[in-house]
Amino acid sequence: MKYFSTRNTAVQVTAAEAILKGLSEEGGLFVPEVFPQLEYENLAGLSYEEMAWEVFTRYFTDFDPERIRNLIGKAYGSFDAAQRVVVKRVGSQSVMELFHGPTLAFKDMALSVLPHLMVEAKRMLGSNEETVILTATSGDTGKAALEGFSEVEGTQIIVFYPKDGVSEVQELQMVTQTGENTHVVAIEGNFDDAQRAVKSAFQSQDLQGALAAMGSAFSSANSINIGRLVPQIVYYFYGYHEMVRQGHLRMGETLSVCVPTGNFGNILAAYYAREMGLPIGKLLCASNDNHILTDFIRTGQYDTHRPFIKTISPSMDILVSSNLERFVFEMINRDESMMNQLMKDLKETGVFALSEEAASRVRDLMQGDYASQQQTLETINACRTETGYLLDPHTAVAYHVANAEENVLIASTASPYKFGESILSALGRSARGMGVADVNQAISELTGTGVPAGVDGIETREVRHHRTCRVDEIDATILDILKAGGQV
Ligand SMILES: *Cc1c(COP(=O)(O)O)cnc(C)c1O
Repeated sequence: MKYFSTRNTAVQVTAAEAILKGLSEEGGLFVPEVFPQLEYENLAGLSYEEMAWEVFTRYFTDFDPERIRNLIGKAYGSFDAAQRVVVKRVGSQSVMELFHGPTLAFKDMALSVLPHLMVEAKRMLGSNEETVILTATSGDTGKAALEGFSEVEGTQIIVFYPKDGVSEVQELQMVTQTGENTHVVAIEGNFDDAQRAVKSAFQSQDLQGALAAMGSAFSSANSINIGRLVPQIVYYFYGYHEMVRQGHLRMGETLSVCVPTGNFGNILAAYYAREMGLPIGKLLCASNDNHILTDFIRTGQYDTHRPFIKTISPSMDILVSSNLERFVFEMINRDESMMNQLMKDLKETGVFALSEEAASRVRDLMQGDYASQQQTLETINACRTETGYLLDPHTAVAYHVANAEENVLIASTASPYKFGESILSALGRSARGMGVADVNQAISELTGTGVPAGVDGIETREVRHHRTCRVDEIDATILDILKAGGQV
């Protein structure tokens, strides 16, 4: 299996190369040359790890299958539940809980695997470079990446987060992170500032030169990496079979999926599963008040001229969905010159528009809708009253959008423990004056579940990371961290 760039199909690399590079040099994203086919019926009864092996070996054909088995074991061994992914019946819907990893958000599904894929890719390519992962985060990605890369040989990870832009639990999760190779820095500024500064650090010739002299090189744990996309395909196969096993779906029947969407990675994985032969019908793309994707699906026009709205589902507050490029590439029949034109339009004018033919293909496959902040709060409350189930604010957006659809699997992307304060307020209770432990206790009583290890006692853990910096100090901070780590 080769991978080529969405912007230049002459660029062809192996999976190992695509995983290490992350992004192609001219800015395109790596996509598989074909969608491998999988006889999904044959996967019935397999464990999550076994299904992951079936999917990974179709995509990472240059990797040794036994080593793939090994790295899957390492990645998912850190998950709490006996079942890695849990499918529950909530009212007349099925909800697929993807948050049983160490950081309580679905990003663990991929970020627990990616570091092991990178280490193996380096071994295969004979690279001795130390990999320095730079990440800007609005909350969930940073912690999942820290946890995934902690103590992974040959890697350092530096995470930048906006000082006042993450929830209290999210901040505590990051600053108490263990592992000698992990580094966390609070930025004075918002997420956009952090993201822009990290991007420019990546491209800085000075920094790259300094790193090369230390025998290191930058890499990214961002969701555009194919090593993050492929692990996400697995849970749609698993969720399908779980619904069949539980008697809510007949084998062979078509299933729709509803995904709370931000960067478009998760729902793209569902599309890839569909292209691999899983009988997925409609892809329901759920957005919050930042509903640029809803509008795109309905009109074929992607228009970034709109205000950025801060919501209680912050991981979906995004106006430029980087993985959308892979989906558009398929919708325009892999026409790379068209792709370049669209991306040029986006860059220069903030808008791109599909042809009528491509727009109608999008509408055939996808349905876009959104939940306002008010609807999200009401959904959390109504679902709790009617079914006893507690939705996190991201999943609530999808639950609202899936509403009356039949045969739909809803992706649940975060544990309610991560957003306890918003949930309490949705239920009409104030969290004012409550510490993290009190909020956790309240959520525990509401869900009838024990406080998960990832956040239990988090307020009493040792704070290991104290650094803060201004946006214009990021480059110097990176060098300082790497030198202090004895890398010179
Ligand atoms: C990242 C995230 C999302 C959005 O996922 P994408 O793959 O970026 O679309 C949704 N919910 C939660 C809780 C997240 O952390």
